[in-house]
Amino acid sequence: MSKPGEKDPKRACRASTKDGRPCRGRRHPSGYCVAHDPALQQTREAARVNGGRNSSRVARLEKLMPRRLRPVYDRLETALQDVHEGRLDVGRAKAMASVAGAMVRVLQAGELEELTRKLRELQGE
Ligand SMILES: [Zn+2]
Repeated sequence: MSKPGEKDPKRACRASTKDGRPCRGRRHPSGYCVAHDPALQQTREAARVNGGRNSSRVARLEKLMPRRLRPVYDRLETALQDVHEGRLDVGRAKAMASVAGAMVRVLQAGELEELTRKLRELQGE
């Protein structure tokens, strides 16, 4: 019986993360987690080839998401999986989500202000 937080190699994703450590994502029948599933990667590649990079879901997400929020998004995505697998305390995950939500609201307020300023410039005000 493995302790929470301990990686069970039989259940873990076969891939490794960008920094070379083994991925801790839950293994699906494909042997990989959702993020590393080659089948999904092919779908993404196909979307990019067919519709051009700008029309792929990933590209749209990247465009919509301020650059500064991308690492936050990645961390939350990992946290979601970790909570699901019992590796992360629910209270800690809630705190992370709450802080991330506040970050998003601050950035949105900034973007809205920038947009308003640009609109006023266009109107010649
Ligand atoms: Zn993985």
